[in-house]
Amino acid sequence: MSPPERFGSLTIEHLHVAYGRAVEALRGVSLDLPGGRIVAVLGANGAGKSTLLRAASGTLALHRGAVTAGSIAVGDHALTDDPARAVRAGVVQVPEGRRVFADLTVEENLRAGELGRGRQGAASRREARDRVFALLPVLAERRRQRAGLMSGGEQQMLAIGRALMADPRVLLLDEPSLGLAPRMVARIGAIVREINEQGTSVLLVEQNAAMALSVAHRAFVLENGRVRLEGTPEELAASDEVRRLYLGAAEEETGQPHTAPPAPALRRWTA
Ligand code: ATP
Repeated sequence: MSPPERFGSLTIEHLHVAYGRAVEALRGVSLDLPGGRIVAVLGANGAGKSTLLRAASGTLALHRGAVTAGSIAVGDHALTDDPARAVRAGVVQVPEGRRVFADLTVEENLRAGELGRGRQGAASRREARDRVFALLPVLAERRRQRAGLMSGGEQQMLAIGRALMADPRVLLLDEPSLGLAPRMVARIGAIVREINEQGTSVLLVEQNAAMALSVAHRAFVLENGRVRLEGTPEELAASDEVRRLYLGAAEEETGQPHTAPPAPALRRWTA
């Protein structure tokens, strides 16, 4: 296990974001991701979840959005809307829709992720790749396969592996379970937990509340660009609103009630 100082913390204070000066997508969001934790962000379509991740990864301008008030910081470093600065500070995003380079092999996709933190030297690049292969063995097995030929779940793993090549301190995940079968969703949840245990703080945006609450230490619910609820996974899972709006849907989807035991990392957090 890595020493605690390796973990990155993310502090978002009173953040306002607008697109094209017209649509106010975030209206005063404050959210803390303490170093070494997993924080989940839930919310319906259009609530502002992706906007929050774009703000943290410095990619708002690419979507014609901008921070109009408030701040984001990693540790003591204030982040501006600059993707390169965010990556240098150790904030790396796995985009929604598991975008991989379909015509490139698994290995080539991973190499694309090395660009992130300006990693120096072949030995350290090999070390990063071996760590990814140890965490996600399917990528080692398929290293010479074209990414476009992999299943949706495997492509998601590749997208995560590529982000890990940049050696993040804070990993931003945008709906990693989207469109995956329940068994693969559970697998992705276990991988998120393992990444966290190996030294990376995680901000996890999810519509699958059952999965998110089973791995997170703390969770936020966004509604119309504001934080509507905040609490431990147990508190949110017990809230009528969350049960009705999010967990009900998850139960229907999987046929399973939301009775997943707390993750090991969660027990540590509450101990
Ligand atoms: P989803 O789960 O559907 O991705 P979300 O919670 O991630 O939703 P956002 O994509 O952050 O929500 O959108 C928040 C608000 O900002 C919505 O009203 C959306 O229509 C608007 N929005 C998002 N991207 C843009 C954009 N590039 N230009 C204009 N408005 C946008």
